[in-house]
Parts: sequence; structure tokens; C-alpha cells
Amino acid sequence: GPVIVWFRDDLRIADHPALHAALEHGQPIVAVYVLDEESVGVRPLGSAARWWLHQSLRSLTADIEALGGRLLLRRGAAGPIMTALVHETDASAVFWNRRYGLPERTVDTAIKSDLRASGIDAHSFAGSLLFEPWTIQTGQGGSYSVFTPFWRACTAGPPPRAPYPAPDSIPGWAGILDADPPSSDDLDSWGLEPSRPDWAGGLRAAWTPGEASAHALLQTFLDGSLPRYGSERDQPAQNATSRLSPYLRWGEISPCQVWSATQSAQRGLTGTALTSATRFLTEVGWREFTYHVLFNAPDLATKNLRPAFDAFPWPPVDQEALAAWQQGRTGFALVDAGMRELWRTGSMHNRVRMVTASFLIKNMLVDWREGERWFWDTLVDADPASNPFGWQWVAGSGADAAPYFRIFNPNLQAAKFDPHQQYIRENVPEYGTDAYPAPLVDLGETRRAALAAYESVKNPS
Ligand code: FAD
Repeated sequence: GPVIVWFRDDLRIADHPALHAALEHGQPIVAVYVLDEESVGVRPLGSAARWWLHQSLRSLTADIEALGGRLLLRRGAAGPIMTALVHETDASAVFWNRRYGLPERTVDTAIKSDLRASGIDAHSFAGSLLFEPWTIQTGQGGSYSVFTPFWRACTAGPPPRAPYPAPDSIPGWAGILDADPPSSDDLDSWGLEPSRPDWAGGLRAAWTPGEASAHALLQTFLDGSLPRYGSERDQPAQNATSRLSPYLRWGEISPCQVWSATQSAQRGLTGTALTSATRFLTEVGWREFTYHVLFNAPDLATKNLRPAFDAFPWPPVDQEALAAWQQGRTGFALVDAGMRELWRTGSMHNRVRMVTASFLIKNMLVDWREGERWFWDTLVDADPASNPFGWQWVAGSGADAAPYFRIFNPNLQAAKFDPHQQYIRENVPEYGTDAYPAPLVDLGETRRAALAAYESVKNPS
């Protein structure tokens, strides 16, 4: 029978280990994506992520059809859907690339054992990371909680494998090819895109999701900004970063592909340009680290990694102030610029993510989980590992985190990283006029209050 290839956070056809193995079988392929909003513990996607997913599935559908196959779209709990699909197609095997969150792993493990119990070959592959989280261990056999030794351990071992090329055909299974193609109707009926109001105009202007765009963006970055990445990556107006994060989040490009293309691009480089390339790969290494941490601390999005923070005296949330932060009306220009960039484009520069998060947690004394949820809903790259990791890092409650007492001053950050206020003016047109809001908080006072609150949890009795 045919081989089912279950697509998840790997919406691409090149360097897709599960698809690659299925094609080696020589049987027709049943490609399927399951929108699972029912399995226990699986976190519902945020609004911007749903918009991205819609575009990405449309792109993957077209790419698979162009090679002779078809992508089935199913909605519901993945377990029963897989069982039904195996019956329906008389499949001999089901292949997929691994996921690393605990609820997802639980779903996948159950499906694998059910399938194997009924004589179906079920197999999972490493497709979304450079290094499987459990393969990187400390000398004592434990997991890492500090980045530098983690990344040293990663890079000391064998290098990531070479990426698989794109297949030149994906033979679809006749039972599906002969039926009416329902996939595009299904996708529209899922309602992943906003309709009334349609707030996605800014997202459409900023992004073209899909595998082809991911590779074009990577190539533009490697041919253009890579040599200045090291010196300009912290300046939001410079466009010196790759903007690959949503493509990596959805697996439209794999980290192996990024790794290998960067290795080739850096061959001719020397001096600061070479240092820049190493720096870029180190940032890709941070993505690896966040998955290593998530694998070992599945509650990353809800639970402080440092239990001492459980006693942090968060005051009740001031909903109006929270809305001012969300809408970019705090009266602090870099914070407002970032929050408005996020709302308009579904993304925010990394430096500004740190500044806006620090402001919420330390100048507004709002629990980091509140900010994590807002980012989860508004980011197109909303990632189950990197987002909660980033928030806990800023809060000081996380792995290898910034110390709590390091409180960014948003005005000094603006002067340092947006010296000509180019980023601020792009995102806050009324900056400098009477229409711009007065500061929401006193930086000195709120800083002292944050430090006092922190003192109370620092030395748990
Ligand atoms: P580049 O600088 O070009 O880096 C290349 C790739 O490396 C990125 O695409 C990304 O996959 C990875 N990367 C870079 N920096 C980090 C980092 N600090 N942590 C993890 N991976 C990194 N990143 C997400 O992908 N999804 C999120 O939901 C997310 N939430 C964040 C929340 C907070 C509070 C903070 C401080 C950071 C968050 N990040 C998140 C990390 C980082 O801000 C983005 O990955 C980065 O801004 C993406 O831009 P880029 O693709 O141009 O990055």
C-alpha cells in the first residue's frame, strides 16, 4: 500500500527526511496535514500563526501538486484521524518528522504504538533541529541550562548532515488523485485567515510565506547582509538580520539547509565578515538551545524555570496599562515602535523584543506570562520553544537568563540602537508631536519597585 507522510512543523518538500524516506520506499505517497485542536495539551495557535499557516499550506499544496502528488487536509484529533486514514488508503507505513513539546510527543508516541500494534510501519525522523535534544548531554549525562557549554557540545560533535535535495516527483496515491480534489475548499473552511475585520493587510505586505520565499530570503541575506550581521544585527533600522524565523518555525526551510548554505557562503570570507557568519550560526544555535530547554522542561510557557520566581509578588494586572503596552501607547518610543511593528507585521526585531519584554515585566511589573501570551497571539514566528524561552530569559526566571536586576532603560536603548530614530519614526509617525502619549510610568520609581520585589524572592527561605 501507499506510504503516509504526515506533515506538521515541516511544511516543505526539500530536506524533508520523512518524505525522503517514503520516496525511497517506491510506493505512492499520501501526504496529509492535520489541524489538531483537540488532542490534550496541544496549545491552540495564535491569530498571526493561523494566518501564516493558511498561506503556508496553500503554498505546500501547490508545490506537492506540481510534482504529481496531493496534500490531504484533515481536521480533528490526530490519533483517530491517522487510524482512519490508514484504513481508508490501506497504507503500509506512516512517516513523520519529530516534534519536541510534551503534548505533541505524547500524541505521536501513542499513534506510533497503535500503528505498530496493527502491523503498520510507523517511523519518526529528525527534521526540525540540527541536534536532537537528548543527544546533547553534559559530562554527567544531564541536560544543559547554560547556552555556551551547550553550543560547544553541539559543535564539538559531528557536523549536521548535508540536506536532502528536493524530490523531482511525489507520486500521489491513485485512490486520492482520482477523487475530486477537495483540499483548497477544506483550507478555506478552516477559517485560519481573519475575515471581519481583516487585520492581516500588514502581514501580507510584510511576508510571503512558503518554501520558495524562504530560500530566496536566505540567499538574499547570505549575498547581502551576512558580512555586516555581526556589527548591525542589534540595530532594528538596519535590516541586517535574515528574517527567517517564521520560515524556520513552520519548517518551510530546515536548519540543516540554513547551516549548509551558510557554510558555503562563509568559505570566501575573512575577518569581521567571517566572524559575522559564525555569529549568525550561533543565533541558529540559540534556537537549538530553546528546544533543548523545552524538551527538558515541557511547562516552559507556564512555569518559571527557577522555582524561586513562583513567589514573585506580581501586583494585580492594570488592564488599561496592559492595553497601552499592547497597542504601543506607553510614551516610550522604542517600546511603542516595537509593539506597533509587531501588530502591523506580525514580527519584531530581536533587540526590541528584549526591550519591550523588559519594560512590561520590570517597569510595569506584569507577569512575563501575560506578555508571552500576547506575543504568542501576534507573532507569525510564535514558537513553542523560543517564545517562552525569550520571555523567561528577559524575566530572569529562565535558563541562562539575564539577571533580574539588569533592567533595560528604554530611552538609553533607543539612543544606542536607533540613534537616528529611523526605526522609531517608521513605526510611530506622531513621535515628537503633541499627539504622542505622555510616559506611562516613571522609569526610576518603577525600577526601584521592581528591584525591591526581586529582593523579596532572591533568597527564598
Ligand atoms: P536572525 O538574527 O537572522 O537569526 C537567525 C535565526 O536564528 C532566527 O530566524 C531564529 O530562528 C534563530 N534565533 C535568533 N535569535 C534567537 C533567539 N534569541 N532565540 C531563539 N532563536 C533565535 N524567535 C522565534 O523564532 N519565535 C518566537 O516566538 C520568539 N519569541 C521571542 C520572544 C522574546 C521575548 C525574545 C527576547 C526573543 C524571541 N525570539 C523568538 C527570538 C528572536 O527574537 C527571533 O528569533 C529573531 O528576532 C528573528 O529574526 P531573524 O529571523 O531575522 O533572526
